[in-house]
Amino acid sequence: MGPLRLLILTLLGYLAWRLLYSHLREKIKKELWQQERKKKEKVEDVLEEDPVCHTLIPRSQAVRLRYNDKTYYFCSETCCDIFIDRQQGAVKK
Ligand SMILES: [Zn+2]
Repeated sequence: MGPLRLLILTLLGYLAWRLLYSHLREKIKKELWQQERKKKEKVEDVLEEDPVCHTLIPRSQAVRLRYNDKTYYFCSETCCDIFIDRQQGAVKK
C-alpha cells in the first residue's frame, strides 16, 4: 500500500467519522430538546381539587366535566358521576 493510498483512506475515514458525528450530535440535540419540552409540560401541569372527594389531581390526568360555564376536574369517573347526580342537568364531555 502506497503512502498516497493510506492518506486517502485516512481522509475518507475522517470524513465518514465527521458525518457520523454530526448526525449523532443532531440526534442528541433533538432528544435533549424533547426532554426539555416534557419537563416544561410537567411544570405547566396544574393541580386541581376534586369537588367530591377533595383529592388534588394533575389537570392532564383528571376527568373533566363542563358545567355552567365552569370546568370541574375529578380523580375518577366515579367522583364525576357523584357530582352529576348532585348537580342535575350537567353534560359530560
Ligand atoms: Zn375523587
